[in-house]
Amino acid sequence: MERVDVAIVGGGPAGTSAAERAASHGAETVLFEQGVPREDRDGIGPDSTDAAGMLDYWIDIMDFDYREIPDEVIHRELEGTEFIGPTNTVTLTTTGMEASYPKFGYTFHRARMDDWLHERAADAGADLRVGTGVKDLETDLRAESENGPTHTLTLSNGDRLEAQYVVLADGPQRRITLDALDQFTAPGRSVSDHLSPPKANHIAYQEYRDFPPELFEEFEDTLKFWWGYMPGETAYPWVFPNDGTVARVGLTMPIGMELENVANPGSYKLLRPDDDRLPSGSEYIRRLLEQEYGDEYDIEEDIPLVEDRGKSKGTETYPISSTRPIDSPVGANIAVAGGAMGTTSAFHEGGYHVAVRTGKIAGRLAATDSLANYNDVWKRAIGDEILRNVSFADIVKDYEPDDWDWAFGVINDMQGDATGNNLISKGYSAGLGASKVLLSYKKRKFDYRNGGYVQLREDEYFY
Ligand SMILES: Cc1cc2nc3c(=O)[nH]c(=O)nc-3n(C[C@H](O)[C@H](O)[C@H](O)COP(=O)(O)OP(=O)(O)OC[C@H]3O[C@@H](n4cnc5c(N)ncnc54)[C@H](O)[C@@H]3O)c2cc1C
Repeated sequence: MERVDVAIVGGGPAGTSAAERAASHGAETVLFEQGVPREDRDGIGPDSTDAAGMLDYWIDIMDFDYREIPDEVIHRELEGTEFIGPTNTVTLTTTGMEASYPKFGYTFHRARMDDWLHERAADAGADLRVGTGVKDLETDLRAESENGPTHTLTLSNGDRLEAQYVVLADGPQRRITLDALDQFTAPGRSVSDHLSPPKANHIAYQEYRDFPPELFEEFEDTLKFWWGYMPGETAYPWVFPNDGTVARVGLTMPIGMELENVANPGSYKLLRPDDDRLPSGSEYIRRLLEQEYGDEYDIEEDIPLVEDRGKSKGTETYPISSTRPIDSPVGANIAVAGGAMGTTSAFHEGGYHVAVRTGKIAGRLAATDSLANYNDVWKRAIGDEILRNVSFADIVKDYEPDDWDWAFGVINDMQGDATGNNLISKGYSAGLGASKVLLSYKKRKFDYRNGGYVQLREDEYFY
């Protein structure tokens, strides 16, 4: 049987970053990516679905010098973001975080960014097998290897391969991760209790639309999010400007939500009195565009779908992790990275940066026989970011349209103008509302301190 030092499952940002680091540190490294066809890539590659927005400080979290990133990856440099509530709107022109990148952020071509990471891994000497999936993983905890447990991977072509270390980077569907980790859970317990895709993920849907130039100009350097327009925990539509006059228009919403479970359906701008069920993703987008631009434009004619992008004629539907992270069973020589471990933020869907960083850490530690440190090292690297994201997601969990208006009103009051810059870092109170926002944020952060945001701790695995 073929034998390698490090095997990686999944060739997205987490997996390719792990492969690049592992190979750079001299490990014999093989990565398996099942391979997905896309309109915007020749041949198969990773499942590159993303709104593809990057904030300034996320580039530092990825541990890249922004000047390294090839020009053809970047679509638009951003000056800010707009959070639009039913009545109040907040405009932010800074993330309020220290960052090397001089702008607010950028939007990017996700498939090209993934391909660049793939190239870096290949240049470092990793063996990237695109088109070969992993079907099964079995761990031998008592293997007679000087570095402890080994793993046997069964591949989609029927071959088997043995690896000393495994990095699981199979994304939010976690098709290999769940069973692989269940080898080490207590009887009657399962990792699915925390990371089952229908419960721990949202569904994301997006369309590529070509806007009339004068309309596109209004948001060509801005990300737009509409909060309190559709029901569900962290459910919201967005528009992200891309190249030319094309923008990605998308949304995220809980999986399996029913209209009868929505309190106050009449308060949501994207629901209609005659709805007998919740709208589909495409119907939500149609209603959003109609509401925002329908007065002046014929949506299908003036803002058409761009069909040569995405996974299926200009559209894509994909699960997105919207939970809290888990520790990895490092005692079994396994690290889980990126979306598979639950790092993507339920609050703003950012996840590319933490996928890259956890992948880089996992690859380096696997290659240097120090994987035992993985859970500590990833917390030091991205713990503050996770803490912010899970705290915000918790605060807004039950917000209804009025709550969003209230919160945006408070943020605007704090600034005394229409921008909510440095919302949290300002730390002063502008009346009762502001105190309430800051207090609940601080309380959540306190509750989750010292890695308390982890859903499944390392000491809960059994070897
Ligand atoms: C619509 C949408 C919008 C988003 N917007 C943003 C954004 O603007 N900014 C941001 O930072 N993040 C965003 N995210 C989140 C971001 O895309 C994820 O956090 C990130 O892709 C996670 O990277 P990953 O490598 O862990 O997983 P993925 O990118 O999901 O990669 C996993 C890979 O594993 C492969 N795979 C799965 N199972 C197997 C198997 N058994 N064998 C072999 N290969 C396998 C898959 O084909 C896939 O290529 C968005 C996500 C979605 C869905």
